[in-house]
Amino acid sequence: MRAVVIGAGFAGLAAALRLRKAGLETVVLEKQPAPGGKAIGWEGVPTGPTVLTLPEVIREIFAAFGATAPALYAVSPLSRYRWPDGREFAPELDLEATLSQLSSQEAQSYRRLLEEARRLYEGASPTFIFSDPPTLPALTRYGLGAGLRAHPLMGLPRLVESGPHLTPFFLRFATYLGANPYKAPAVLHNIAWVELGLGVYALEGGMRALADALYGLAKAQGVEFSFGTEVVGLETAQDPGGRPRVREVRTAAGGYEAEWVVSAADRHFTLAWLKKPLPTYELGVSGFAVLMRLSERQPLGHWLYFSPDYAGEWRELASGRLASDPTLYLHTDGEAAFLLVNAPSLQVMRSETLRAKGQNYARLLMRKLRRLHPLPIAEWRVMSPLEYTATSYQGALYGRAPHGLWGSLRPGWSVGGWANLAQVGGTVHPGGGVPLALLSGWRGVQWLLNRWNP
Ligand SMILES: Cc1cc2nc3c(=O)[nH]c(=O)nc-3n(C[C@H](O)[C@H](O)[C@H](O)COP(=O)(O)OP(=O)(O)OC[C@H]3O[C@@H](n4cnc5c(N)ncnc54)[C@H](O)[C@@H]3O)c2cc1C
Repeated sequence: MRAVVIGAGFAGLAAALRLRKAGLETVVLEKQPAPGGKAIGWEGVPTGPTVLTLPEVIREIFAAFGATAPALYAVSPLSRYRWPDGREFAPELDLEATLSQLSSQEAQSYRRLLEEARRLYEGASPTFIFSDPPTLPALTRYGLGAGLRAHPLMGLPRLVESGPHLTPFFLRFATYLGANPYKAPAVLHNIAWVELGLGVYALEGGMRALADALYGLAKAQGVEFSFGTEVVGLETAQDPGGRPRVREVRTAAGGYEAEWVVSAADRHFTLAWLKKPLPTYELGVSGFAVLMRLSERQPLGHWLYFSPDYAGEWRELASGRLASDPTLYLHTDGEAAFLLVNAPSLQVMRSETLRAKGQNYARLLMRKLRRLHPLPIAEWRVMSPLEYTATSYQGALYGRAPHGLWGSLRPGWSVGGWANLAQVGGTVHPGGGVPLALLSGWRGVQWLLNRWNP
C-alpha cells in the first residue's frame, strides 16, 4: 500500500509526514536535487520565501511526532519601510511604539486598519484557512455572517485609503497571495493582520533550514525520497468498483504504482499530467529576484523601498511590462541578501522580452539598491519569471490571481475527479505562503485518506 507524493516543497514535506503518520509506505519524487521547492536556496541565499509567519503551524507538525521544531524567534521591527521622500517607518508588534512613529491622523488610520485586518482575519480564517476547502453550506454560512461584514463589494484600495504613505503600505500585503493590490478584494486586507498583529519569525539558516528540518523529520519517520526524479505524467484507470483513479506516476526513469497520489507541485502541472485543458483565467504575479552572496555579514532584516508611484508601477505590471522604477523588497541575513520586485507572469509578458532584457533589468535594480542600501556584494545571480517556471506555471508564484469577489477562494484539493488523488500546495486551498502550503499538505492528506480507501 504505497503513497506517492510529487514535490518536496513545504506542502509535499507536510503531506509525506501526514501519510507516514497514517502508517503508509511513502515515496516523495522531486525533480530538484534537494528539498524546499521555492525555498531551495542558492549557496545559502534565499530563492523565494523569507518572511515567516504563523509559527504554530510549524510547531504543531513537529509536535505530532513528539519532535521539537527548530527554534523560531520573533523579528522586531517586523520590517523597515522607506518612501522616496526619505520618510521611514518600522512597525513592531508593540502598537504604541508603532503609533509613535506616525502623525496623529495616520495613527488613527493605522489603529482602525489594524483592527479591521484582525476582524477580517478572525472572520475568514476558520472557513478559508484552518479547515478543508469550504463546501457550499460553509460558504453560505460565511457569506451570511462574517462575509457580509467583510465589505464583499469593495475593492482593497478603497478600504485601505489612508494617505500617501500608509496606503501603499497596507496595499502591499495583498501581493503575498499573488494579487495586484488594485484588483484585490477588500477581504485580502486580512493578510496585514498575520504580519502586523501576529508577528514575523525567523530561524537560523532561513527557510531552507526549515525545509531541511522537515526533511530530516520525514526521513527519520521512514519516508523515502527520490531527488532528481521528474514526473512526466499520470496514468489513470478505473478501479474494480468503477471509480476513476490514478494508477501510476510516470517519471523519465520509470513508473511508480501507487494507491494514493498527492501532487504537491503547481496545480497546472498536475492538470497537464492528466491531459486536462489548462484554465484560461488570469494568473497572479511573478517575481524578479537578485540573489547576492556578501563578503561581510549583515544583520537579519526585511526592508521595503517604495517606488514614487505605486499605482503606476502596478499599471506597468498589468500591461505585461517590468516596472521601470519598482518598489524594492530586500532581505539580508548574514552573508546572504535577496532583492525582490514584483513582475508580470509569462501569461502577460513575453519570455523573449525577458531573455533580451533580464540582465539589464537586474543591473537597473542593482543600481537602485546601491543608492538606497549599499551592500558588499561578492557574487550575484538573477531569478526572473523564466527561472520561476521550474516550480510555477507561467512563473505565476501563487497560481490563479486572487482578484474580484470570489478571488480569494482557492481551488480545492480534488483535481480532475480522480478519487485517489489530492492536489495540495500554494496554488490551491488554503493558499500560498509557507504556513499555508504546510497546512495544505497536512490537511489535504487527511481529506484524501477520509475519501479514498482502496
Ligand atoms: C520570490 C518568492 C517570495 C516569496 N516570499 C514568501 C515569504 O516571504 N513568506 C512566505 O510564507 N511565502 C513566500 N513565498 C511563497 C512560498 O514560497 C510558497 O507559497 C511555498 O513555498 C509553496 O510551497 P509548495 O510546496 O506549495 O510549492 P513549491 O515550493 O513550488 O514546491 C513544489 C515542488 O514540486 C516540484 N516539482 C514540480 N514539478 C515537478 C515534476 N515534474 N516532478 C517532480 N517534482 C516536481 C518542484 O521542484 C518543487 O520542489 C514566496 C515565493 C516566492 C517565489
